[in-house]
Amino acid sequence: MSDDKKIRVIPHRGMRQIGGVCTEIATDEARILFDFGSPLEDEGDQKPLNIEGVTRGEVDCDAVFLTHYHGDHVGEVPSIKAGIPVYMQKTARRILQAQQEHKECLGEVVWASGVKEMEYGVPVIIKDLTVTPIESDHSAIDSLMFLVEGHGKRILLTGDYRMHGYHAEKMEETFSNMGHIDLMITEGTNLTKEYKGEYKTEKDVEEKFKEIKKKYKYVFLFTSSSNIDRIAAFTRHVPRGQYVVTDEYQKKILEIADENREEELKLHKVLYYSRYLEDKIEKPGFSMVVRSGDSFYDIVKEYFEKYPDETILIYSMWSGYKKLPGVKRILDIAKNQISVHVSGHITKEDLEHVIKIVEPDKLIINHTSANKRDKNTILLPTKTKLLKVDDTDSVQI
Ligand SMILES: [Zn+2]
Ligand SMILES: [Zn+2]
Repeated sequence: MSDDKKIRVIPHRGMRQIGGVCTEIATDEARILFDFGSPLEDEGDQKPLNIEGVTRGEVDCDAVFLTHYHGDHVGEVPSIKAGIPVYMQKTARRILQAQQEHKECLGEVVWASGVKEMEYGVPVIIKDLTVTPIESDHSAIDSLMFLVEGHGKRILLTGDYRMHGYHAEKMEETFSNMGHIDLMITEGTNLTKEYKGEYKTEKDVEEKFKEIKKKYKYVFLFTSSSNIDRIAAFTRHVPRGQYVVTDEYQKKILEIADENREEELKLHKVLYYSRYLEDKIEKPGFSMVVRSGDSFYDIVKEYFEKYPDETILIYSMWSGYKKLPGVKRILDIAKNQISVHVSGHITKEDLEHVIKIVEPDKLIINHTSANKRDKNTILLPTKTKLLKVDDTDSVQI
């Protein structure tokens, strides 16, 4: 039942930039934060989040909920004061811990080991607010949306999401069955980008992988180690008698991901690459998941030199990363390459569709570099009011 008590929403960051998003939802009793990310390199405000009761002063925060493991959502968690519980979906937490342990020798703090695990649909009650994690679809698997309920109000935080991944139908169903939403806080990464790519969905990408595997004996996939759906699609189309190989770290991430995966999205068997395996894989051909770094660089170089007509590298990430030195180095030696990728974020067209289904009373668009004018070009249902909010403003619901 609705009562007179208000819920406050404060976007601490994300109203003017994509990276480093952090949103507060609070009542007179409870104070919760959603995501605590790092800004993207060279994008927007680079100052670390500095929030009274969270990063400084006496602790005044009941919980921090993380939508997924990407750095622009979790990067500044180490600056949160001890004693504030942090929550994440369970598989996502385990993947993040493996990533942190891998980089521990470079000084990375392994904080994900102390994060509380959440299960889909199982609400967490924080004083007078109830937070329910909902399965989403993004380029990080097991990403969450959150439904926050209290005092008769219902707020939906989407986190990063899209309607063109493997869970598109499920997403459509989720939004259709959402019920009344007072405030929807959605990401708007692609509002300023018109999508002109050749591939529209993850399934299109998978089809292309299949086609490439038929043509080439040695196929390298260059992608993010945590883009599990993409890697799984790659592994599903290995010709008989061939193997998919990668390094120990990537194999570990894939094994964690596979533990609770739906049968149809599981990985085909992936082997840990070593020189001893060379005899087994060179003759029949192979597929390899690679990243930047010396060990992969050497293998890619070797095969392009030895078998230039039978080797290809698939670049399967955002094109902006091509200029990073480590990426550029490996792309420079891949004489035969193709870009096959779709965004992890919702298109403007799909965003309009989702808002139409949910039909929230109020709308906030964050995680975007779109300005007010760009946001005003979105077609909204007549009852939905787009709120003009800036970082650190407080909105009452
Ligand atoms: Zn993300
Ligand atoms: Zn993001």
